[in-house]
Amino acid sequence: MIRCTFAHVDLGALESNYRAIEAFLAARTPAGRRPPAIVAVVKANAYGHGAGPVALALERAGARMVACADIEEGIALRQAGVHVPVLVFGALSVSDLDGLFEYRLTPTCSTPGAGKALQAAAARHRQVLDYHLKIDTGLNRLGFRHDNLDRTLPELLAAPNLRCAAVYTHFATADDPGHPLFDLQLERFASARAALASRGVTAASVHAANSAALLRDPGTWFDAVRPGLLLYGLAPAALAGVLALRPALSLRSRVVAVKNIRQGESVGYSARYVADSPRRIATVPAGYADGLDTRLGGRGEVLVNGRRVPIVGAVSMDMLAIDASSGPVYAGDEVVLLGEQGGDRITVAEMASRIGSIQYEVLCRLGSRIERRYNRP
Ligand SMILES: *Cc1c(COP(=O)(O)O)cnc(C)c1O
Repeated sequence: MIRCTFAHVDLGALESNYRAIEAFLAARTPAGRRPPAIVAVVKANAYGHGAGPVALALERAGARMVACADIEEGIALRQAGVHVPVLVFGALSVSDLDGLFEYRLTPTCSTPGAGKALQAAAARHRQVLDYHLKIDTGLNRLGFRHDNLDRTLPELLAAPNLRCAAVYTHFATADDPGHPLFDLQLERFASARAALASRGVTAASVHAANSAALLRDPGTWFDAVRPGLLLYGLAPAALAGVLALRPALSLRSRVVAVKNIRQGESVGYSARYVADSPRRIATVPAGYADGLDTRLGGRGEVLVNGRRVPIVGAVSMDMLAIDASSGPVYAGDEVVLLGEQGGDRITVAEMASRIGSIQYEVLCRLGSRIERRYNRP
């Protein structure tokens, strides 16, 4: 590969973040109790970092289970050589379920319809299938409604080819410390667990916490936690600083052309940027096809030769322009779009806030054209 825009993914940082979470959990677990297991969330191509290498690194670090969005992602994890159990979060009511059996994936049962489909598929494969039961406690997306379990549970629990291995929920507002829905969801989850126990489901393990919940409340830990964001070295804004983490991904490129423009000349499509004085403009071969938001034009910055310089004009499909007039710049100079150079850093949080988005989206949008290069610790 010779393309000069690439993402560097530090597998050592991922492992170190995993261990930081593990140590955080162990230090706050009461003596004599077992800390919660870590389910490593690697959906959406491991938040853009590359599902296979990331999941294998986290498996080496000790993850007991990894989680992904759908059966297709689960199959990709198995094909990459992942051995630990793979939990599929998504709704499966209209999916082809054969992959669950062929690739030993653990489904979430999140609607009565999915329960029927899973039972039929398990019977066809002559297997007893372990599933995780999802309870909707207020996100109102997937899951059995917490207040309707008397009607919905009997048929599911009677399914002869299904076994409820775990019960879980997902928070809507864990990253918003003041929001009352968080505590309400925890209460509803407690009553859902009681409803299950009263129907004889007592061995199922329990999990609820995403990254934000994990950081803010040990009362959400139960038997396992499900961090995604933290593993990649990022934290929800309201909880930044609770854990020492290392961002795992940086996005790097090189200057491919430099030209001087005169006062009054414009740069790029729609002539959106007009130079108010003579400027030195450098072209970087990374654009919106690589996942760089068009709103970065006139708002974002990059690092080049240890300086912060602005992105000017419209971001185009394959290129963007920077105003490098503040110092020397030559073709071949390294450009950092995300990450560190010369003691400064463009964080994912910074890029997200400049375009009015969230850290998750910045990472997940990194294009498939961008090669991910991995290093060992
Ligand atoms: C994505 C996801 C997580 C991880 O969320 P983070 O905020 O990245 O920690 C956990 N659980 C479920 C069900 C998810 O979909």
